[in-house]
This record gives sequence, C-alpha cells and structure tokens, in this order.
Amino acid sequence: MVPSSHASEQTSSAIVRCNNVTRTFTRGGRTGRFRRGGATTAETVTAVADVSLTIAAGELVGLAGPSGSGKTTLLHLLAGLDTPTSGSVTVANTETTQLSRRQRTRLRLDHVGIVFQHFHLLPSLSARANVALPLVELGYSKRRRRERASDLLTQVGLSDRLQHRPGELSGGEQQRVAVARALATDPQLVVADEPTGELDTETGKQVLDLLADVADERAVVLASHDKQALDRTTRQIRLRDGARIGDKL
Ligand code: ADP
Ligand code: MG
Repeated sequence: MVPSSHASEQTSSAIVRCNNVTRTFTRGGRTGRFRRGGATTAETVTAVADVSLTIAAGELVGLAGPSGSGKTTLLHLLAGLDTPTSGSVTVANTETTQLSRRQRTRLRLDHVGIVFQHFHLLPSLSARANVALPLVELGYSKRRRRERASDLLTQVGLSDRLQHRPGELSGGEQQRVAVARALATDPQLVVADEPTGELDTETGKQVLDLLADVADERAVVLASHDKQALDRTTRQIRLRDGARIGDKL
C-alpha cells in the first residue's frame, strides 16, 4: 500500500491523468430527474467516486476490483469513450471534458487503442481488414493499410492468418487480432477491458505477454478481476464501490 496522496506517481511523462473523477449514472425515472411525489424516483449510482491517478508510458497498470467496482466505467473515461460527471481526464495533454463528441472520437483515433473482452471484430472482414480499418479514417492508402496490418499481425504471431475471418480463428487468435487493431494507429495509450475473460490460461498468457510488450513504449491499462492478468501488471490500482481504495505494487 502507498499513502493516499499517491506521491509516487510521476506527472511529467503522464499519458493519461484523472483528477477527482466522479461518474454517476441515473437509473429509472424518465428524464433522470427525481419526480415530485415519488411516483417514479430515479436512483443515482456512483460508478466512479473521486478517483485521481496518473499513468506514464512504460507502465502496465491493472485496474482491480470485484464486479461492479467501476473498472469498466473508469476505463471508458480514461479512453475518452465517456466523460466524467465531475473532475477531469487528460489524455495525451488534452482534457476530454472540453471536447465535443467528434473531437473525442478524433482524440481516440490519434492516441488511444481499445481492446474489449469480446474482441469486437467485424465478422465479415478478414483479420487483416479488421486491423486496417482504423487507418481508413487516418487517410492511409489501401496499400499502406495492408502493409501495416500485415506487419502488425506478424508481430502478434498471426502472419499465417491474414485472410482468415474472425469465425475461423480461435478466441486467443481473435484477441491477438484485436490487440493488433488497437495498435494500428500507434496509440500512446492502450486500454484493455477483461482481455483474458474469454480465454483459457495458456491463450490468456499469450495475450498478456503481448500487452506487456506493448507497454514497453506506451501506457497500458488493464481492467481485470483475473489474478493471472493482474499478476503481470507493473502496479495495480484497486477499486471498491467506484473508489480507489489502495494500490498494490
Ligand atoms: P466493473 O467493470 O468493475 O464490473 P462497472 O464500471 O461496469 O464495474 O459498473 C460500476 C457500477 O456502475 C455498477 O453498479 C453498474 O451497475 C453501474 N453502471 C455502469 N454503467 C452504467 C450505466 N450505463 N447505467 C447505469 N449504471 C451503470
Ligand atoms: Mg467491467
């Protein structure tokens, strides 16, 4: 455990930073407002509660905590997929709360790679076309997209699977395609939400090896309640009921 000031966290080389971030959701109640008379009272859930953190390049940080502790919500805030109810999130020196939805999309395209538990590959496209897809928005020519996607798939050990569709690949292979896709735009930050949740121990290990390599030059944030995954991280930020309750180094 480190003191709650988290004084050990460097700020100079920060890729992503949260300052006092809270995210609440309102459940029930049509407009999200409490109605007079209590006919349909809305319930406010605090998914992330006053979390501050700083993550630098070279770190593979685990977000740990039981189901419902706020890992996914915090990961989405760090990735610029969502914005906080209060507090600020800064990704690659840009404060996300100031941005329009479109600007946030652009920020993600430029700086963030995202890996999901269920891979989220497009089933009708080949592995190579899935990896190449983010590069369309960046204006790469078809030839350069193909070259880059082939290189990345080779790096993740799938040079013999370029033309396979997701349905023709194992879970571990699909997740490696998803990691290659996340790297296509050369992001400074990679976030992965339960990336080994669907995988057996051995294929999970391969994906974790890959994420550890990725973290050599980037910041990687891994949300997981899987011990095997968390054991590979350089440090763990532990959440309970949305709050940062401590770290494990
Ligand atoms: P974890 O990933 O650790 O399982 P989540 O971030 O998914 O946790 O959820 C944290 C809490 O916030 C839970 O109580 C969950 O039900 C709630 N929550 C998350 N997303 C929403 C949403 N879109 N609407 C309402 N409540 C939500
Ligand atoms: Mg989750």
